Amino acid sequence: MRIRLLLLLVASHVSPLTSHVRAQVSDSHRANASRLIAAATRDSAAWNRIAKLSDTFGPRFSGTPNLDRAIEWVLAEMKQDGLEHVRGEPAMVPRWVRGQESAELVSPRRQMLPMLGLGGSVGTPPNGITADVLVVSSFDDLKAHAALARGKIVLYDVPFTNYGATVQYRGTGAIEAAKVGAVASLIRSVTPYSMRTPHTGGMRYDSTGSKIPAAALTVEDATMLHRMQDRGEKIRLRLKMDAQTLPDVQSHNVVAELRGSEKPDEIVVMGGHIDSWDVGGGAMDDGGGVVIAWEALRLMKELGLRPRRTIRVVGWTNEENGLRGGLAYRDAHATELDNHVVAIESDGGVFRPVGFGFTGSEAARAILKDVIALLKPVGADTLLPQGGGADIGPIMQRGVPGMSHVVDGTKYFWYHHTDADTPDKLDPVEVSRNVAAMAVVAYVIADLPEKLPR
Ligand SMILES: [Zn+2]
Repeated sequence: MRIRLLLLLVASHVSPLTSHVRAQVSDSHRANASRLIAAATRDSAAWNRIAKLSDTFGPRFSGTPNLDRAIEWVLAEMKQDGLEHVRGEPAMVPRWVRGQESAELVSPRRQMLPMLGLGGSVGTPPNGITADVLVVSSFDDLKAHAALARGKIVLYDVPFTNYGATVQYRGTGAIEAAKVGAVASLIRSVTPYSMRTPHTGGMRYDSTGSKIPAAALTVEDATMLHRMQDRGEKIRLRLKMDAQTLPDVQSHNVVAELRGSEKPDEIVVMGGHIDSWDVGGGAMDDGGGVVIAWEALRLMKELGLRPRRTIRVVGWTNEENGLRGGLAYRDAHATELDNHVVAIESDGGVFRPVGFGFTGSEAARAILKDVIALLKPVGADTLLPQGGGADIGPIMQRGVPGMSHVVDGTKYFWYHHTDADTPDKLDPVEVSRNVAAMAVVAYVIADLPEKLPR
């Protein structure tokens, strides 16, 4: 250590008596950040890995052989990369099976409508449900027309404003529709843009109401049905869904590390989720998040950069329809959580990087400002007020500070949870800049002279 410090001081021409020794971010960090950025952006290695993962295994839905095989492949590759303590950590995950499904417009004319059942939905009877449709534009609108809803298929035609607001209709639309006597619940896909592509996603029931089938139509068809209703036309649909929930099965969180040189028990954890929905290739949701964290660690290893503290990369399982990976991580590492310096999640796509969001103390935020400033060369130098992520939520509730990797979000929800979440949408240069962002942030935080304050 002493030799390394001396070399760094010589290399950076800084006397130990200057104020620099008190700064958390040192000239050696600046030099190593430059090396990581150069290594990350010299080629398309990360994009290639996302494409390989997506193309080889297809959708990686919880409880499927696709996901099991993908996890095995990632673990084998991580070992090949020379990463340390590579292992799968067990988690029991739900198994929802979509089966055959269809939506057919019966009146005022006949047409098959592209649709996707929502994850967790019950199926219809074998012959489907044929019923009149009531289109509403909000929960308030449903309440105002509650008397008309009995025996009907309710369709929520709710324009996308932001994900958090609009996704309420996917999550709880079936509960509210069942309360007013509807026989099925449909949503307009949760997206700001559509090429007649339906978007799936999670939904839930409450314990008291009846469970009615729930599915998503495209923006094009939801708005068309709404126009038909406005014209006074009678709309009738036939919905068929074989969806069912089977017993839980075993899955695994993917874990790899670079052990710290001085304080190996102090941990910076970062990653994304290895599972995806059962459509598309899970390239951006969230193959990209897993791969950029993994590549960041691989580059540190390749450059011989071993920070003072341990960096642990995790590909959490079952984020999409259960969050069991995040919960299993919290439980398996309960005694370590006080030593978790920060948790960093990437689950917003791997488009042009912007920076990071952070939830933690003001003292930590002040230090992180200096860390993030190192990412100016790749445009990821903005520190935003709130950080976190679904998978790191359970450990943040136990006091671990959280960061979210933030990118330009313009296009993410165009492809989110659809058959179009594939590698061609991602730009290798942008992906490589995200690797640089994850690498620099994790490395410097793990190597700070003092532990990031809580
Ligand atoms: Zn995701």
